[in-house]
Amino acid sequence: MSNLILNSERLNNVLENKIISNADVLQIYQEARTDSSELFLAAQNLRKKFKGKTITFSKKAFFNVINMCKDTCTYCTYKAEPGEEKLSMMSKQQIKQMLSLAKKYRCVEALFVTGERPEQRYQEARDWLAENDFKSTAEYLTHASEWALEEGLFPHTNAGNLTYDEMKDLQKTNVSMGLMLENSSERLSMKGMPHYLAPSKRPKSRLEVLENSGKLKIPMTTGILLGIGETPEEIIESIFAIKKLHEKYGNIQEVILQNFQPKLDTAMSNFPSTEENYFKIIVSLTRIIMPEMNIQIPPNLSPKSYQSFLSVGINDWGGISPLTPDYVNPEFSWPKIKNIAKNSKKVGFDLKCRFPIYPEFFSFISKELREKISFIEDEEGLVKEEYWR
Ligand code: SF4
Repeated sequence: MSNLILNSERLNNVLENKIISNADVLQIYQEARTDSSELFLAAQNLRKKFKGKTITFSKKAFFNVINMCKDTCTYCTYKAEPGEEKLSMMSKQQIKQMLSLAKKYRCVEALFVTGERPEQRYQEARDWLAENDFKSTAEYLTHASEWALEEGLFPHTNAGNLTYDEMKDLQKTNVSMGLMLENSSERLSMKGMPHYLAPSKRPKSRLEVLENSGKLKIPMTTGILLGIGETPEEIIESIFAIKKLHEKYGNIQEVILQNFQPKLDTAMSNFPSTEENYFKIIVSLTRIIMPEMNIQIPPNLSPKSYQSFLSVGINDWGGISPLTPDYVNPEFSWPKIKNIAKNSKKVGFDLKCRFPIYPEFFSFISKELREKISFIEDEEGLVKEEYWR
């Protein structure tokens, strides 16, 4: 039982570990739009109870393996068309060179990202695969992941809706994988909405892939994209959808809450950025819905205020790269790790480097992968300082 007593009976129930319903959360949301102080206090209380004074991050290199994509989301600036300057199609040699550079920079994670099944739509992508002797992007990724392990980095793949068998293959080398749910609302896939031309973003497809990751016992990172035209009800539904998956399979290792930022070259360039107080309320709601979950916001997308999210319930900054840009949000460079450490310290938190898999999930991975982690892990299951500082 918590010592904190609030005026809100619903929030007191949360602090006493009572089950909270979707309707309760909506009511808490509505009250917080007028005054969010009690919600933030409750979230922070739970964060301290379950996560202490540590804030984690993963030191990574971002491998933009191929950014052609068969789908089109109206907010996306990552996707490239053949001939565009930002097009990326990494050769085997480029991947290997980048891995060795990442090791020199003392990165721990190799984040492999691709667009959604580019070879289904583009001849250029099929030619690129043939030149590198692979039949599919997924096959390429299994090999890239092996090279990462050989170099002493830990792969984490985020390649859209992979099949059960593709994930099963990647599981041999990847300590965790990622797929954003984004939102569980079908409405956002209707005509005129951001996911209309992106069949892979249909909630049914996304949830099926996440279900498969659960069946395979893959530690999974998922999350929600806020500010793309969703309603509060839809956001709350989406958080509950993730909670339900986790209750069923126990494999959701973290929830990313990502704030939409408009991109100049996209159909949503005139859409406003996600309002910060709304964003904070959703972070806090996620904490009260899943008190023990690892909750992350990307600090580069709130460059002036990221440290203030430490008082609304987060316990992770996600992947930060000293070496590569955030290709999904190229106009937002990552803050320097030493500045994140300093700013976190100012508000009472110690920055520590984690693996792309959280310690609570070490039992999910193979003996071989577990052993590789054990060589550089500290007594808390985080990365020993001398391997990343
Ligand atoms: S967000 Fe992902 S699925 Fe959508 S267009 Fe961009 S790369 Fe493709």
